[in-house]
Amino acid sequence: MIQLASNDLDKDVQQELDNLQFKVDNELTFAKKVEKAQSLWNSKGGVKGKQAFEKITTRLYGLCVSEGICNYCEQSEANDVEHIYPKSFFPDKAFQWENYLLACKQCNSGYKLDKCHVLDADNELIVVNRGTEPLSKIGAFINPRTENPNEFMILNLMTFKFDTIPGLSKRDINKVKSTLEILELNKRDPLLVTRKSAARYYYEMLERLVRILEVLTIEELQNLLTPCDDRFDLTQPLESIKDEIKISYKKSIGNHQHPSVWYSIKMIESKVNTKWKKLFDKIPEALTW
Ligand SMILES: [Zn+2]
Repeated sequence: MIQLASNDLDKDVQQELDNLQFKVDNELTFAKKVEKAQSLWNSKGGVKGKQAFEKITTRLYGLCVSEGICNYCEQSEANDVEHIYPKSFFPDKAFQWENYLLACKQCNSGYKLDKCHVLDADNELIVVNRGTEPLSKIGAFINPRTENPNEFMILNLMTFKFDTIPGLSKRDINKVKSTLEILELNKRDPLLVTRKSAARYYYEMLERLVRILEVLTIEELQNLLTPCDDRFDLTQPLESIKDEIKISYKKSIGNHQHPSVWYSIKMIESKVNTKWKKLFDKIPEALTW
């Protein structure tokens, strides 16, 4: 998981969200608030609300950590507006902009559903049962809209599982534990396999780019380009073409699935692995991609 860029809503859209949240907060009991949040979520409170949510979805699409990819598993198409803190347990966050992200159907409806863990005063995890009010308001889940998941966990490129960052507080350790458990991010075999494929993709891209940047003739360059590369105007000066190719490769890396893999490569592999180190020595700016 990667932190999503921050982004404010247009005033009219934010106002619409505030109106909907006000109606939920106005209910007197927890059960009524949940019921109200659900019915307003279904109807969006009418035409204006529906229009606001079209804009919200578009805005969330632009915030995805990779082009249109689920912000949880980083693998599948993101098509659901997901409540990070479920509205059935946190109706006070049902229409809160920072409580939304786009997730795939499997993460949203298959794994996360409305599972909820909270932290008590001693930072112990408490599982909240469906239909009951959480005893604590502190959700045990990393919100990648407002928190940086990389400060909590990092992908291990030997196991392709997330490890907890050493030295965290009990509270943060339990947040990591709960997030990984709810989403099953370390248990889903297809994710472990595709993270490995992503690592290979990133290596091959960077390795080819290094070779491209070292060519001395257009002919050498043509030999290195793949049929999947963008079409470049090969009548331009060689250095200009190389610059264009570099931009194109940077974009491809930035749009690829599993940005957490790329993050670990930059943070760890670039320092400890000779093969990666060699590539980054040739293109140090890639450390900021
Ligand atoms: Zn997903």
